[in-house]
Amino acid sequence: VQQHKVSVIGSGNWGSSIARLIAQNVRKQPELFHETVRVWVFEEEVNGRKLTDIINQDHENVKYLPGIRLPDNVVALPNIQDAARDANILVFVLPHQFVYQTCEKLRGVIHSECRAISLIKGLDFQNDEIMLFSDEISRILGIECSALSGANLASEVALEKYGESTIGSKNLEVDGKIFHKLFHTGYFNVTVISDYTGLQICGALKNVVAIAAGISDGLKYGNNTKSAFIRRGLLEMRKFGKTFFGGVHTETFFESCGVADLITTCAGGRNRKVAEAFIGSNKTIEQVEMELLNGQKSQGTTTALEVHRFLQARKMTDEFPLMTSVYQVIYEGAPPESIIDALQH
Ligand code: NAD
Ligand code: 13P
Ligand code: CA
Repeated sequence: VQQHKVSVIGSGNWGSSIARLIAQNVRKQPELFHETVRVWVFEEEVNGRKLTDIINQDHENVKYLPGIRLPDNVVALPNIQDAARDANILVFVLPHQFVYQTCEKLRGVIHSECRAISLIKGLDFQNDEIMLFSDEISRILGIECSALSGANLASEVALEKYGESTIGSKNLEVDGKIFHKLFHTGYFNVTVISDYTGLQICGALKNVVAIAAGISDGLKYGNNTKSAFIRRGLLEMRKFGKTFFGGVHTETFFESCGVADLITTCAGGRNRKVAEAFIGSNKTIEQVEMELLNGQKSQGTTTALEVHRFLQARKMTDEFPLMTSVYQVIYEGAPPESIIDALQH
């Protein structure tokens, strides 16, 4: 019986947390998975040492997931081809702006027996078109790619606080089953669905809604207001999915990848935090992100910009007032209070 070799591509906050979970799960299933979990690390110096050396020697990603011990079967590698060669399973967990440049380095390195899963929360906007990252990874590498998304704040998963997640796969029988075995565990309850499209739309767009929630918090509005943003945001997420993609099911929005992820991100995510600090700061959102996140990336600002360009090209901004208002507050200097207008549209 062949053991699957798993490689994780990316080692930020979520990348490190999920590598830890995967490393626990493969040890429990030696009949299915090879014990070593290779992780590609975008190399950088931290306190005068290479981050890969710190992870391999001290078993902690001190920059992106401080205070959490990583199992010693997590092996960090700075060269992406070494990290991915001969892998049977590739787990993509990168900020969405880095996916292309990273994938291109893997062309020709990956064999056809490999399958992938994308944990990326973002959509791929190019030339006014939108693509799913799972489809783009699949196209570039010539392999099947599923997706995982859910209410999964990385630090809480790393502390093994109970939560749920969703996997979307075209191939439930083979890929769905193997990925369920790789990710599901007592504190991380995974459901597999076929609507990988709706799942990825939720994961991307909830980040934009979380910016609205952060603006609301920055303006010291209350819980009722924030709930109104969450509700309107959910409706726009569904409308966006159903208008621009085929095969998106309403039920997907009730999975962990839908409403649950929206709630957790609007309560405790980085997008919310950055947007709250942006209000009244007289700084650009990029400056606030750099000051607050120590190299981590909040994905919602770029997604807000990309969604806006996409809607504008179709003259449809009026039909998505919340997404449009977030863009205007963040990028066009619209008064933050104007975001309330989006609720009265
Ligand atoms: P992060 O924002 O914590 O870290 C940024 C990462 O980008 C670091 O690993 C850094 O080394 C890397 N990086 C910087 N420059 C790079 C470059 N030029 N090329 C490649 N990599 C570069 O990352 P994360 O939290 O692991 O996020 C990855 C994805 O997971 C995102 O789409 C995010 O939305 C999603 N996600 C995050 C969480 C969470 O709680 N953090 C939870 C679920 C999903
Ligand atoms: P943030 O990127 O806003 O921290 O959200 C993390 C997340 O995706 C939780 O599921
Ligand atoms: Ca593309």
